[in-house]
Amino acid sequence: MVRDVASRIHALRAHLRATGGRALVVIHPPNVFYLTRFTGDNGAALVTLNRLVLFTDPRFTTQSRQECGRGFSIVITRKSLPQAIGETLAARGASGRVFFEEDRFTVAQLHQARRASSTRWTWKGVRGAVEAIREVKDASELTRMRDAARLGSAVMDHAIRTVRAGISEQDLAAEIEYQMRKRGAEGPSFETIVASGARAALPHGRATSKRIREKELVVLDLGVILRGYCSDLTRTVHVGRASREVRRWYAAVLEAQREARRAVQAGIEAAAVDEAARSILRREGLEPYFIHSTGHGLGLEVHERPSLGRNQKALLKAGSIVTIEPGVYFPGRGGIRIEDDVLVNEAGSETLTSTPRELIEI
Ligand code: ZN
Ligand code: ZN
Repeated sequence: MVRDVASRIHALRAHLRATGGRALVVIHPPNVFYLTRFTGDNGAALVTLNRLVLFTDPRFTTQSRQECGRGFSIVITRKSLPQAIGETLAARGASGRVFFEEDRFTVAQLHQARRASSTRWTWKGVRGAVEAIREVKDASELTRMRDAARLGSAVMDHAIRTVRAGISEQDLAAEIEYQMRKRGAEGPSFETIVASGARAALPHGRATSKRIREKELVVLDLGVILRGYCSDLTRTVHVGRASREVRRWYAAVLEAQREARRAVQAGIEAAAVDEAARSILRREGLEPYFIHSTGHGLGLEVHERPSLGRNQKALLKAGSIVTIEPGVYFPGRGGIRIEDDVLVNEAGSETLTSTPRELIEI
């Protein structure tokens, strides 16, 4: 078993012992990958105090052996994975509490697993057992996150050069996603957002056939997946010379974003980072137009722990990566968002995405 995976399993077993569990069943694909390196789309992991078993179906026989390496067993089955896991537990003759990911299992899967496992096992739903470990990235993950941020920034630099009056949002999104793959990404980490003019007021405006015109704001929000890990960044550009009002809005978002990045460090409450951005927008009278939280964790998934929202009391941890993305949205008129990926350090932070943040007038 490779060292990173071994230390993750070690942490999970410590958690199992501390919470009175004998086993944990993991079916959420990013969690399965994190614990086994298996990337197939039908996999489940059974972690007990002394065994690690990957369950998958015959389509993935070769792939699972290649990806997982040595150190744990692989069960290839034609049955549903929860049923196969239940049978494996029953066959071992042991008993105790088995945890399952209650926010990932379907009701049917739980029934199958429970029925197959015999009554000696008590099934108990838990949340976030693996996600809590994933929040702090290890050395190999940090390398991948840096590479994903670098690639995302290069694609954004290219996208900004491609924006012009007359091109449609869809054409621009297609060019962006082509560049991702061309430059080595597995693909986008979410559906690329290109939102221009009044559509820029939609925080998650997906690209449409609308053409970009003069005097419009264009919000570009993109991310790549590179060797399993995500980046996520946003820039807003203006086609033609911006009005004084747009410049004022942009300067406020830029300052809010910078202050929030400055606030990031280990041990600080997530809500304090949100407040660092929010207070600047409040001072400028723009807080009513800031309609989402300041950021979110980033890693194997594009949205993971922690959440940087108003009421989030959780303390930031060194080694976690968060986005910082305040924005303002004016219905019918447009919007502005600036987003970077930031590594939390013991004493401060490091911004991993590098595309310039100053207002670009194209
Ligand atoms: Zn984004
Ligand atoms: Zn984001």
